[in-house]
Order: sequence, then structure tokens, then C-alpha cells
Amino acid sequence: MAVHSFQHPRLTVSLSLGHKYNGWYLIFAKPYRTADSREISRLDASGPFKSAWSTRPRFWFNPKARSGWELDGESLLDLLLSLDVHEPPLFAIVDHEAGVNKVEVLLAEHQLAHYCENCGRWEVAGDNALRWFMVHSDRLPRYICPACHARDWFGARLLRSLKRLSHKIFC
Ligand SMILES: [Zn+2]
Repeated sequence: MAVHSFQHPRLTVSLSLGHKYNGWYLIFAKPYRTADSREISRLDASGPFKSAWSTRPRFWFNPKARSGWELDGESLLDLLLSLDVHEPPLFAIVDHEAGVNKVEVLLAEHQLAHYCENCGRWEVAGDNALRWFMVHSDRLPRYICPACHARDWFGARLLRSLKRLSHKIFC
């Protein structure tokens, strides 16, 4: 299972959708040399809106979110809804309030790009790319990358053996 990536007919780069803490992000599907950050735009609107959880995650799409690739008069949501016909849709609009659309995310959790809460790296799209470990899943699942996971595990193991050792010495 790999992170879903998609291309817009006007663009040459591959994009992915991801979440970080409770925010939704449009990101580059992989690191591009011309881009210094994987993140292109945060998509969810802050303010009076709450992103409610149904069977699929939903959030209010920030009408001011921009990628820089929109045509005049086009919103980022318009752009993300106008993918090639062979691409699966990313969102369905489920509500509308004061010029703001609420969207339901149509990709499954495993198709989204995940953010390592320890080192801040995003997962990369591609069949052979490593996936991050899910560490909490209360509302939106949270993740940690394999390198940080291994370090944590090693650190915890070292601490346990040190405790055992001090126990032997002092008891
Ligand atoms: Zn990490």
C-alpha cells in the first residue's frame, strides 16, 4: 500500500494529500529539488468551524488556501476537484456555509501522506517507499517514521537495561 499521488492536467509535479496534527495539507508527493518544502498549502479553515469526524474525515476547506497554480477566479478547491478523469476524486462537497465549503475526504487513511510528529518528515509516495507507524488513533491517527520509531525503541530498551543494572548494583 502506497501514499496516493495525483497529477493535475496543467501540472508536471505529483501531489498528495496529507494530515498533520489536525490540519489538512496539499503536499508534493516526493521531495522536488526546486521546492524547499514538501508543503504547498494548508487546506482546512481555522475559526468557528469544527472538523467533525464521520465515517470519513470532513473539514471546512479554507477559501483562502492557495497553491499558486490556480487560474484567475479559480479556487484551490476548484483546482483539486478538476483532476484528470482517470484520477479518483479527492473530496466530495458535503456542506456549504457563508462561502465556505465543507469537504469529505474520499481517500482512505492509508492513501494519505502522514507526518512524523518526531522529526517532521512527510511520507513519500511510491510503491517502495517506507510507511510511517501509527502511534495514536483517537480522532485523526498520529504517526512516527521508522527511523524515529527505532530510536525510541532503542532508547526505551537502553533505559530499561540501565534500570536493571542499577537495581543489581544498589540492591
Ligand atoms: Zn521521524
